[in-house]
Amino acid sequence: MTVFNNIHFKNHQAIHYFHDQASGLRSIIAIHSLGSANCAIGGARMYPYATEEDALNDALDLSQGMSLKSAMAKLPYGGAKAVIIGDPSKEKTPKLLAAFAACVDSLNGTYKTSEDIGINLEDLKILTQFSPNVVGAAERTVEPAVITSLGVFAGIKAACKYRYGKDNLNGKTIAVQGIGKVGMHLCERLDEDGASLIVSDIDEKALKRAQKNYKAQIVPPTEICNTEAEVFAPCALGGSINSDCLKTLKADIIAGSANNQLANNSIGEDLKNCDILYAPDFVINAGGLIDVAAEIEGYDYADICKKTEAIGESLKLIFQRAKETGQSTNAIAIEMAREREIDITRSRC
Ligand code: NAD
Repeated sequence: MTVFNNIHFKNHQAIHYFHDQASGLRSIIAIHSLGSANCAIGGARMYPYATEEDALNDALDLSQGMSLKSAMAKLPYGGAKAVIIGDPSKEKTPKLLAAFAACVDSLNGTYKTSEDIGINLEDLKILTQFSPNVVGAAERTVEPAVITSLGVFAGIKAACKYRYGKDNLNGKTIAVQGIGKVGMHLCERLDEDGASLIVSDIDEKALKRAQKNYKAQIVPPTEICNTEAEVFAPCALGGSINSDCLKTLKADIIAGSANNQLANNSIGEDLKNCDILYAPDFVINAGGLIDVAAEIEGYDYADICKKTEAIGESLKLIFQRAKETGQSTNAIAIEMAREREIDITRSRC
């Protein structure tokens, strides 16, 4: 397994491997960049990766995505991500979480961790007992996933406005893949706005809740991609927009919360060629980061909501520039993130 020649490496500043024999912890913390704040933020994901290589590649991809996300959200922080190898339902113990907190702390505040798949608010509260370098666990008005859903909702409306000339979701059908923390809150917002919902998940209880509360139609996970809907909202794991999905996808718009939705970089170009409007993941799902980062410089709920709703404006700029230049929305978003990063660094000098 190579690191520097790995296509996922993408100029990372540091990759830390940790092991704790007593708790069984095996973790990788990938720091893509430290930003002008000399501090990288990114959640911790606990997942039963099939191989160590899968865990490393996931950490690297997610970490780079956090750098782009932070820059697009005009934050001074760099991007990082932690992965813990293991099944959270069986292997997540207070001892393992304490050992992980010690790993985070050993990085002397250059990395601040938070929640992701497999690590929830309760776990963050345990981590805070052992490390000050945890964001997302402090008392707040609503949990970060609610803010993430606010940004995704603003993004879906901006994409509909761009595509159909109006942002009213009444009469539109949205297919939501994954109705966990973000997906379920998103369903609530979409339902309130008059959209019809089609959902898929592997969690039966979540499906029943969405059916009962939001009159959502349920389809099996294998069918959500090819269901008849104007918008496809991936809110589960990454990589769901792949060449197989593209062959059957009927939606005009892809706009959801999942990180690393595109299975590879060329898919962004394929989406453009198929005339599918893609709201880049690291732009539309920045609400959670905006929310947890506010803990560092002063939590102001109204300001967090305002910055998160501005995601719609950022997407509009991306869609317009993509149209003018003939590039994919994904390529334009990466370009804009780099421009914003330079602006942030200059303004802090
Ligand atoms: P979650 O674990 O609460 O929800 C994920 C849901 O996806 C679960 O209900 C799970 O059962 C479901 N799922 C798993 N495999 C599936 C499949 N094959 N088909 C359909 N459903 C499947 O996670 P979350 O916090 O809601 O995050 C969802 C996505 O959004 C993740 O990719 C995460 O990285 C990203 N994200 C989350 C936040 C946040 O604030 N929580 C912020 C930014 C990005």
